[in-house]
Amino acid sequence: MLALQGDFREHLAVLTSLGADAVPVKRPSELQAVDGLIIPGGESTVMDKLSRLFGLAEPLKEAIASGMPVYGTCAGLIMLSDTVRDSNEGQQTLGGFDIVVRRNAFGSQLDSFETDLDVPALGEPPVHAVFIRAPVVESLGDAVSALATLADGRVVAVEQGNLLGTSFHPEMTGDTRFHEYFLAKVRERR
Ligand code: GLN
Repeated sequence: MLALQGDFREHLAVLTSLGADAVPVKRPSELQAVDGLIIPGGESTVMDKLSRLFGLAEPLKEAIASGMPVYGTCAGLIMLSDTVRDSNEGQQTLGGFDIVVRRNAFGSQLDSFETDLDVPALGEPPVHAVFIRAPVVESLGDAVSALATLADGRVVAVEQGNLLGTSFHPEMTGDTRFHEYFLAKVRERR
């Protein structure tokens, strides 16, 4: 659980409730000790700066390249994206996901909203999704699959091998299926 900034405590609580041995990761040695990583929601520009300041950015890129399962929610999805639109000047990402995301894609009028999403990979019922100044995925490379789209067709959940990403916040709703889906990847890799 990347714990530099953002709502990592909520994710830790969900993972622990599912029986996972979840720990906060703030330094390279802690990253080496885990089999998978969740990058939480928060503020991608701050997470970017802190990850570089704490010497975590390069180890994180290496972990992603080596195939470690990583799940990014909201700002975490931005951190995993190869390309970001409406980024702050100088903002970098870890990359790994062959996607283009747009930050704050819903603008200031629709800062936050909730909706139900069909997620075929998770089955029934639909997932109740909370969006908070959320990004959307504007284009996907060949290796990326869309797991969920809004009614207007915009992609808000993606998967590429061991990478998983959602524009919204499953850690806030009590629906643990995305976390279970991710933990299955971690177990499989181990
Ligand atoms: N808008 C934030 C960013 O650009 C993401 C918001 C969130 O994680 N809830 O990083």
